[in-house]
Amino acid sequence: MYTNMVLGVSRTDDLDTIRAAVNDWVEGHVPEHWRQAAADGRAAIRAVRPRSDYEAWYPTFAASGMAVATWPVAYGGLDLTVDQARAIEGVIGPLNLGRLNPLGLHNAAPPLFAYGTEEQRLRYLPPIVRNEERWCQLFSEPGAGSDLASLAMRAEVDGDEWVLTGQKVWSTWAHRSEFAICLARTDPDATKRKGISYFLVDLASPGVDVRELKHMGGEVDFNEVWFEEVRVPAFNVVGAVNDGWRVAGATLAGERQMVAGSGSGGVDRIGGSGSDRLLSAIGDVDPSLRDRVMGLHSEERIRSWTNARVRATVKAGGTPGPAASIGKVHQGQLNQHLQLAACDLLGPAANAWDGDWLEMPYEVKGMIRSRANTIEGGTTEINKNVLGEKVLGLPREPDPHHGAPWKEVPR
Ligand SMILES: Cc1cc2nc3c(=O)[nH]c(=O)nc-3n(C[C@H](O)[C@H](O)[C@H](O)COP(=O)(O)OP(=O)(O)OC[C@H]3O[C@@H](n4cnc5c(N)ncnc54)[C@H](O)[C@@H]3O)c2cc1C
Repeated sequence: MYTNMVLGVSRTDDLDTIRAAVNDWVEGHVPEHWRQAAADGRAAIRAVRPRSDYEAWYPTFAASGMAVATWPVAYGGLDLTVDQARAIEGVIGPLNLGRLNPLGLHNAAPPLFAYGTEEQRLRYLPPIVRNEERWCQLFSEPGAGSDLASLAMRAEVDGDEWVLTGQKVWSTWAHRSEFAICLARTDPDATKRKGISYFLVDLASPGVDVRELKHMGGEVDFNEVWFEEVRVPAFNVVGAVNDGWRVAGATLAGERQMVAGSGSGGVDRIGGSGSDRLLSAIGDVDPSLRDRVMGLHSEERIRSWTNARVRATVKAGGTPGPAASIGKVHQGQLNQHLQLAACDLLGPAANAWDGDWLEMPYEVKGMIRSRANTIEGGTTEINKNVLGEKVLGLPREPDPHHGAPWKEVPR
């Protein structure tokens, strides 16, 4: 039985032993002022822990294996059971030790587990856990978003390499990533879902051009990425050639889970903050606004319990499956309602502030960012289609080009 060298625990240890080992680790490795701030909640932690400090300290956390406690040791985890991992979370949860490299953990790792070779997992998973190789996702194209399977980036084989040419868009964090998961068309004569392959691309390769895009909050989060004859080794195809659509399913389920807040990355929402912050700021407001915030608070509690159930299923070896779409649809709308309420609580200061538009209040920034929640990771409309077809068993959306080769379908 393997015993982890840092924590000194293994699968046979009871939960109290695990908690004691984690407590020891926390005392020896988490800076004291972070621990003290944890007693006062997440906002207090954020106040004493700038992101740069957290990133500099992160290798210590990654080396403990606790970031992915149920993963095998060879991939950077601890090979612990789901219950043991939950015991760890119980101890470290209040310290708010968020996982870095969320697209590596949620989007790149699931297909590697489901369809990758052992060599691919050993090569790519440990640097994801350590945040040494950061990942982005190159799926969407100008002509292929909701209808992703119609994508046109071309990949042609040349000896033991593939040569990729085309354009991707909305590529979150491509400007600060080392690697990308990427879908490209390897057989234009096949139907649109059959001729796609799934690639792992080193963004330092010649021919890759990453161009930043600003979103309406003013920040640069995503990019256009152009490929001009980018050479990718055959080793970096995940799953079988032309079977990339199936492989992409593992990424898309992981992504929906992350956006829904049920991923393991400790991300509760993308944009703004939760109802606890609203409650602490509520003061003496109009009763109808107070009612609204309380309603949102209840809804958020329900969301977090549902997320906990999905997380437990995943940690127990299951997949979130199409049901992840329920969380995605709910969380997207809920967060938009929360961030609008935050602006209403702020009052006139949400409409006018000193300084330029980039100095907008946190609440306004959160509200603007939350508008993307019903688009990113698949739009609400598309997720409702998934729910209708895969969960409720309703008839499929009609497709007049069903069965036609991709190259004959108008785009
Ligand atoms: C913040 C953000 C980050 C993103 N990050 C990434 C990333 O890292 N990597 C990546 O590959 N992509 C990323 N995306 C892209 C995202 O996946 C797409 O925007 C999304 O899938 C929608 O595609 P589209 O923008 O082309 O819209 P379209 O597909 O053109 O849709 C336009 C509208 O039509 C509706 N619609 C389309 N088809 C149907 C249908 N069949 N039934 C009902 N309604 C329909 C849609 O719901 C939408 O309202 C990101 C997007 C955002 C907003």
